[in-house]
Order: sequence, then structure tokens, then C-alpha cells
Amino acid sequence: TPLLEVKGLTAVISETKQEILKGVDLVVHHGEIHAIMGKNGSGKSTFSKVLVGHPDYEVTGGSVVFKGENLLDMEPEERSLAGLFMSFQSPVEIPGVNNIDFLHMAYNARRKKLGEPELGPLEFYAYIYPKLELVNMKTDFLNRNVNEGFSGGERKRNEILQLAVLGADLAILDEIDSGLDVDALRDVAKAVNGLLTPKNSVLMITHYRRLLEFIKPTFIHIMENGRIIKTGDSSLAQVLEEKGYSAISAA
Ligand code: ADP
Ligand code: MG
Ligand code: MG
Repeated sequence: TPLLEVKGLTAVISETKQEILKGVDLVVHHGEIHAIMGKNGSGKSTFSKVLVGHPDYEVTGGSVVFKGENLLDMEPEERSLAGLFMSFQSPVEIPGVNNIDFLHMAYNARRKKLGEPELGPLEFYAYIYPKLELVNMKTDFLNRNVNEGFSGGERKRNEILQLAVLGADLAILDEIDSGLDVDALRDVAKAVNGLLTPKNSVLMITHYRRLLEFIKPTFIHIMENGRIIKTGDSSLAQVLEEKGYSAISAA
């Protein structure tokens, strides 16, 4: 059975009832990397937010089954506990809370919900330490306040660190490549690749082809006007590079 199966998903903006998603179909199996590409405003971020249960949007039709369960019936926190992780395009600053305390709290909350014993500070440090290397972060990074004064690259690395700490069956990465220089992009991509196992999957959303040179997708989907209008293998990125989105929507 698929890890995620989305059928005819429609959604509106809660406040205005304007329809943004107009029938999204997507199937993700274990171990696959899916990339969703598309012009700005095509509905990519809305789709990812709807999957994690963001309150700005209301689902009006279709179905989403995640690990055999109706995802749409779950609260956002339940979705996360079920193994769905999402990075945010604009992560929030949390003044006065340092990074390691934040990650420790988030990790323990998760273990508690799953009925596992919480980790003490030293145990948690031992758990997180090797993961810092994965994202190429120095230890002093852990003592800084969450996202406060982080550079674009540091924010993205921190999101991947969160993913490494919390773990996920399906990680939704929305524009983890935006605003990164090539070195930071390479680091972030390396970290994501390092987290991949034959069991977990990634849904990465990107406007640019550059990321796909570092993380090879199993499938590429093109989103336009709230729908996935085309699906192909990684060679679709080459078509995009040469002919642009217009060639695809016209086809
Ligand atoms: P993408 O991520 O592909 O750039 P988005 O999902 O962010 O696209 O947005 C799709 C469309 O829906 C855009 O026209 C955007 O302005 C609109 N939209 C999305 N969320 C909201 C919102 N909360 N309020 C008003 N308009 C929104
Ligand atoms: Mg956008
Ligand atoms: Mg977006």
C-alpha cells in the first residue's frame, strides 16, 4: 500500500472560501522522493500546508490516506505523531528559547506521546550530537535562540536538524533551497540524502531545478492552478530548464 494517497483534493482559504486546490492527485510510496514544481502561486505551499492541517485552509473535497489512515480526520499534532514532518517556508523566531532546549522539548513531547521514556539532558545531547555533523553545524549553534539572527542557510540547516531529531515517514520540504548559496544548498541536500532510508519518503517543493541536481527525485510533478498537471521522472527537470513551465502547460 502507498505511504500517501491523495485523490481529488480540493481546498479553499478558510476566511474567503476562495478555492486554491482544485483536485490534487498524488501517490507516494515508501522510499520515493517526489518533487513538486510549478510557477509561483500555483498552489504548492497550500498543498503542503493542507497536508499538515494548517488552519488557514479548509478541505472541501477528495481524500488523503496516510499509512492507511484518513489524514484529514487528524489534528495537526496527530499528523506529526503519525510520521508527517513539514519544514516551513518562513520558520518562526522563538525569542528566549535556545535551540537545544527547543529540540529537546519537541523530541520528548513526541516520545511521551508515543509512550517512550523521555531523555534527560545528557542523553539528548548524545542523541543530537552526531546529527549536528549531518547538517554541518557547530555545537555553539545549539545554544543560540531558535531562528533568532539565523542566516537563511542556518535556518534551513536547522529545519533539517529538526527533521533529523524528530524523524518522519514523510518529510515535506517547502523551498528548502530558497535563498541558499551553493555551499549551503549542498550541505542541506547532503543532510536530506543522509536521512533517506528505503522506508521513508520526501516530498520536496521547489521553484528551481538546482535542488534536483543534489537530491534526485523519483518523480517530478508539475503543479498549475491547484492541480498536478503532469508527472514524469527526473528528466522532466531538463525539459523545464530548456523550455520553461509554459511548454508543459501548453502540452
Ligand atoms: P506557491 O507555493 O505555488 O507559490 P501558494 O500555495 O502559496 O502558491 O499560493 C497559491 C495561491 O493562493 C496564490 O495566488 C496565493 O496568493 C493564494 N493564497 C494562498 N494562501 C492564501 C491565504 N492564506 N490568503 C490569501 N491568499 C492565499
Ligand atoms: Mg510562492
Ligand atoms: Mg510556496
